Amino acid sequence: MSPRLRHLTSLENLPRETIERLLDRAESLRDACAHGTRKLDVLAGRTVLNLFFEPSTRTRTSFELAARRLGADVINFDIGLSSTSKGEELFDTLHTLEAMHLDAIVVRHKQSGTPDMLVRHAMSGVSVINAGDGNRAHPTQGLLDALTIRQHRPDFDKLSVLICGDIKHSRVARSDLNAFTALGVKEIRLCGPAELMLPADEAPQIRRYGNFDEAIEGVDAVIMLRLQKERMASIELPDEAAYFAHYGLDRRRLGLAAPGCLVMHPGPINRGIEIASDVADGAQSRILEQVGNGVFVRMAVLNEVLAR
Ligand code: ASP
Repeated sequence: MSPRLRHLTSLENLPRETIERLLDRAESLRDACAHGTRKLDVLAGRTVLNLFFEPSTRTRTSFELAARRLGADVINFDIGLSSTSKGEELFDTLHTLEAMHLDAIVVRHKQSGTPDMLVRHAMSGVSVINAGDGNRAHPTQGLLDALTIRQHRPDFDKLSVLICGDIKHSRVARSDLNAFTALGVKEIRLCGPAELMLPADEAPQIRRYGNFDEAIEGVDAVIMLRLQKERMASIELPDEAAYFAHYGLDRRRLGLAAPGCLVMHPGPINRGIEIASDVADGAQSRILEQVGNGVFVRMAVLNEVLAR
């Protein structure tokens, strides 16, 4: 059996077995909740700190709910965009908060690598979970995307999955690539404008497309990403109407995918920019299932790093 994780900062290099264990656990927690168990006590007496240096609604709420459902105490610490960019300030914050006897820190930060830095500096015994760092990783999103696909299409070795949009600035795309590769997805495709594509030296084996109609042909799942303007140099910002014409998912394009193709998006969605409203709300949309799965995946991760 692969060793229990103490921290989760990225899905890179995680063995398939570990990823599957987390997905299986998320699934059994989902079943337990479906059968009326709203609250478990496996993490009673443990304290989880949500340390968010970037705004977030979905992810922070989802981690909070996950921790509470496992019986943990939760502290939310939201720090504005501007503060704590320097390492020293970050460590001051860390040590101050640690003095309150924490068991886990869930961290989101605009700077890639912050969670690993916390792992190196956190007191021993404190687990660090990455809730999104810069454009680098968003491991629980990668897991929940894999879980959502698996619930509909467990036959990963037969699947074609397309990720479309602003790949370059997307930590979700990177964590999805790690998860899908580890789980043996047959084919992963990336599509987007050249200036928003994954740099050539990252995942060179993954096929890139500039033409959305070609990229979506026959795929079993499509994950749409928003333009992450806050991480862009203004020069890269495309005109939104032209962007939708080239890279927006509408009904016509969805018709080119395999029948029943799953439509996914990590949120927040921008209707009429990367996805048409009727597709976002349509019968093939799994976007709200992704949100629901987020809670169970985060319960599974908290349980993994914290259970005694
Ligand atoms: N919510 C995701 C993230 O935190 C995706 C996004 O922001 O576009 O990266």
